[in-house]
Amino acid sequence: MRLVLHLIKQPASDAMQFGAAITQMRNEIKFCTRCHNISDTDLCAICKNTLRKTALLCVVENIRDVIAIESTQQFNGIYHVLGGIISPLDGIGPEQLNITSLIDRITNEHIEEIVFALNPNIQGDTTVYYIAKKLKGKSVKITTIARGIAFGGELEYADEMTLAKSISNRIPVENYITS
Ligand SMILES: [Zn+2]
Repeated sequence: MRLVLHLIKQPASDAMQFGAAITQMRNEIKFCTRCHNISDTDLCAICKNTLRKTALLCVVENIRDVIAIESTQQFNGIYHVLGGIISPLDGIGPEQLNITSLIDRITNEHIEEIVFALNPNIQGDTTVYYIAKKLKGKSVKITTIARGIAFGGELEYADEMTLAKSISNRIPVENYITS
């Protein structure tokens, strides 16, 4: 309603242009042939960027996660978007996700480290476990993003699992301060 009320106040040509832009966006947007991110060309802007570290590959569930990680400005590698997560209860198996293309990339590109940035839940862990098993024997380092207490959180309210992970995944103070 807010959008309609705004549009009727604008000149008709503006609304036409807006409509044309949406049509063009829907027609021209596609998925990157390499990482499955959204793009308007065969390769997305991240894959095309020669300044990024192509040996460091971050695996995410969906495009929103790419946007979230990009907004931190802390990651300079490349991505692989799975397009979902293994979830038998929802009827989503590995064959419905972009896993074959991920294994192909590990085989064909010079990737030294693959970082799983999946949601910390059973489905996320299952997906990491499944893919890591598929990658057995390949010379690639496999890591996951850290788990622990949220910034600004309080220890006494953290659940036991998160607190336990924070203790077992402790990091040297110099890394903590510089990051
Ligand atoms: Zn891409």
